[in-house]
Amino acid sequence: MLNNTKSIISFLIKNYIDEVSIAVDMTCGNGIDSKIILDNFNVKKLYCFDIQKEAIDNTKELLKSYFNYELILDNHKNFDKYVKENIDFVIYNLGYLPKGDKNITTNYLDVKDSLVKVLKKLNKKAVIFITFYPGHFFGKIESIEILKFLENLNQKEYIVLKFYFENQKNNPPFFVMVQKI
Ligand code: SAM
Repeated sequence: MLNNTKSIISFLIKNYIDEVSIAVDMTCGNGIDSKIILDNFNVKKLYCFDIQKEAIDNTKELLKSYFNYELILDNHKNFDKYVKENIDFVIYNLGYLPKGDKNITTNYLDVKDSLVKVLKKLNKKAVIFITFYPGHFFGKIESIEILKFLENLNQKEYIVLKFYFENQKNNPPFFVMVQKI
């Protein structure tokens, strides 16, 4: 069933996206999205970012049987210090670390800084997924600010698609897919 953001993103990963050589998980958290990337794409390299050591440790544990990835304890707005190649796939799962400190969340200024830079480094057909959690106050502000930015991307250069559950109550999570044309 395509009944939540994760199931639709997984569906698109399996059925829509072909070749991914360089991938970036901008918010690796517990490593679940990173594992999905490594399980579904034959990547040359996956870069995983998080600002919390706990998240990096959790991801390391989940990915211990894989080799083609790098864990980076730094803000995603600095991703270009580490990722020198052009990029085919990027994922952001915003908000706080599940089962972690709810006071440490993503913020739209850093997300925007990283987006401005990453958009210039995408190969043709590269995809970015961004999952938003507007059910909490800062998540709502973050979604408004990032959507404002994405709405203004040139339609000749990027597809910007929003996936939203219209009939779910209480500001459900939603995601945006950005694709470089
Ligand atoms: N993708 C993760 C998974 O599959 O388990 C879940 C990510 S969780 C919703 C959001 C993560 O973003 C948290 O682990 C948090 O520490 C991290 N984060 C917050 N601000 C960040 C920033 N500026 N740069 C990198 N990571 C950040």
